[in-house]
Amino acid sequence: MPEAKLIDGKAIAEALRREIATGAARFAARTGRPAGLAVVLVGDDPASQVYVKSKGRQTIETGMRSIQHRLPAETSQLELMGLIERLNKDEAVDGILVQLPLPPGLDSGAVIEAIDPAKDVDGFHPVNAGRLMTGAPSLVPCTPLGCVLLAKSVSPSLKGLEAVVVGRSNIVGKPVAQLLLAEDCTVTIAHSRTRDLPGVVRRADLVVAAVGRPEMVRGDWIKPGAIVIDVGINRIASGDGKGRLVGDVAFEEARAVVGAITPVPGGVGPMTIACLLRNTLDAASRRAGLA
Ligand code: NDP
Repeated sequence: MPEAKLIDGKAIAEALRREIATGAARFAARTGRPAGLAVVLVGDDPASQVYVKSKGRQTIETGMRSIQHRLPAETSQLELMGLIERLNKDEAVDGILVQLPLPPGLDSGAVIEAIDPAKDVDGFHPVNAGRLMTGAPSLVPCTPLGCVLLAKSVSPSLKGLEAVVVGRSNIVGKPVAQLLLAEDCTVTIAHSRTRDLPGVVRRADLVVAAVGRPEMVRGDWIKPGAIVIDVGINRIASGDGKGRLVGDVAFEEARAVVGAITPVPGGVGPMTIACLLRNTLDAASRRAGLA
């Protein structure tokens, strides 16, 4: 059996960011302004602060404008909706992202629905979810888009592949399944009530694991030669007390059988922000009538 190919998400994300930077420069030259991404952070969740910081830095690095709104945890629903309304109307803002989760008491569903679908760069608005489902052009959720780009980096056509997506969340499992369907895969969505999950996964030429359970998908669940995209990010105990990150797939076991696999970290993770930047440029280009 040939050695499994490691899908290097970091390198693929970097290449994607370079492409976006070229597009962003062209956008600015044609419109006389940079594409703008507004990120709204409410409260002081440490993980969210780290994400928002890297989003801002990478936005600027690709030649786009980063606009950040940091609001206190006590912000009311009305105040937050007011800000979204202003960002919707602001011509310099092409993309709006509200960092989730919101502090308790704020209704994230209502906030997402208040975002102009044309600026919904997270792709979570029901209008964009509906467009994805009906095959209309839409802003597509970033992590699922990253998964598909990673799979296509090793198999440019996914046509006819048996794909099994483990997990059915609105932010990962369901949209990734829709995207794979659009790529002409035969898609099965598995979840916590699926009977004989190992048997279902064994059918797959392409497995996307988005569960949130460390190393749940074992090596002997995987068909030899399959492509495995591991979305899971789980911190488990390690000898040094700091903990280490693992995916939803038992990496070393799987590596012995797969055709190609994404590592954790360094696989799907780096693609998420790169896809957010791509969505921002897409949204900007559509709004400016350039796409
Ligand atoms: P959710 O908790 O929203 O969904 C998890 C899904 O897994 C559910 O559909 C659930 O099924 C299913 N599931 C849970 N237990 C089992 C089981 N024993 N067997 C089969 N299916 C099971 O998680 P998310 O989709 O938000 O995230 C999934 C993982 O991806 C997490 O580790 C998260 O940290 C990571 N993630 C990574 C991102 C990145 O940038 N790399 C971005 C987003 C998420 P049911 O519906 O029946 O409960």
